[in-house]
Amino acid sequence: MRSATWQVALTRPGSAILVALLTVAGMARTHPDRFEMRQPIVGGNWKMNLDAAGSAHLARQVAAEVDGDVRVVLFPAFCYLLPVGKILGDTPVALGAQDFYDRPNGAFTGEVSLAMLRDVGVTCVLAGHSERRHVLGESDQIVNRKVLAALEAGFEVVLCVGETLEQRQAGRADTVNEGQVREGLAGVDSDTMSRVTIAYEPVWAIGTGRTATPEDAQSAHHAVRRTVEALFSAAVAQATRIQYGGSVKASNAADLFAQEDVDGGLIGSASLTAEDFIPIVRAAAGA
Ligand code: PEP
Repeated sequence: MRSATWQVALTRPGSAILVALLTVAGMARTHPDRFEMRQPIVGGNWKMNLDAAGSAHLARQVAAEVDGDVRVVLFPAFCYLLPVGKILGDTPVALGAQDFYDRPNGAFTGEVSLAMLRDVGVTCVLAGHSERRHVLGESDQIVNRKVLAALEAGFEVVLCVGETLEQRQAGRADTVNEGQVREGLAGVDSDTMSRVTIAYEPVWAIGTGRTATPEDAQSAHHAVRRTVEALFSAAVAQATRIQYGGSVKASNAADLFAQEDVDGGLIGSASLTAEDFIPIVRAAAGA
């Protein structure tokens, strides 16, 4: 999806003029340096949706459209991981799991281990999604155990954080997010931070049709990046991808992704059809 014109502009002498012209025409990336430093990531969190045929069909459509400019990860329901993984095969689209249990094996009825996920081709996992925190009662401690276990097992992890409406209205959004980032990443080595993406997902925006304004998203992402800097280093903070989630659609994706600290999105409802999802991936490629 990367435009050939843009690549030419980056590599040829005298390209500054061309870049300036493209910028004026609204065709160039908003933050080329940022794009080079942090490849955008777009996740499709299918949650408890779709059936076998629908999952396979959507996986085929996404795989046919994605060329690797943007890191794309699909998170199907557990029972469709294997067939979706087979469809994704060697394409640049990665297979993700929505959840897992942090113990290696044993008497944990209904749970799925990281080794089982690896067996079926999963390379990326979510931890701390707001529905797991707020509907299923996962604490920061559980989320932290999951992050550590997944990193130890070699997976990429998407750590989801975000404030509730009540917390935002009380002026505590940044404090809540900072706490979730600190607790979620407790004990993580800076060496493994290259496998961590943070998803800022305000709870009030998930599945509600309400989206943070690009300015509010930027402000929250900036605060999260400052927390990562305080925990690790400026270099780690600059290299860490922070994606936005919460009612992202084709119509608002470009404005959100154009923000300096917004490195793509975690998409729920709009990831359930290729017609909705692919334009969002394209918006990330052009951000
Ligand atoms: C999500 O599930 O992480 C999400 C952001 O959902 P939606 O896009 O539907 O708000």
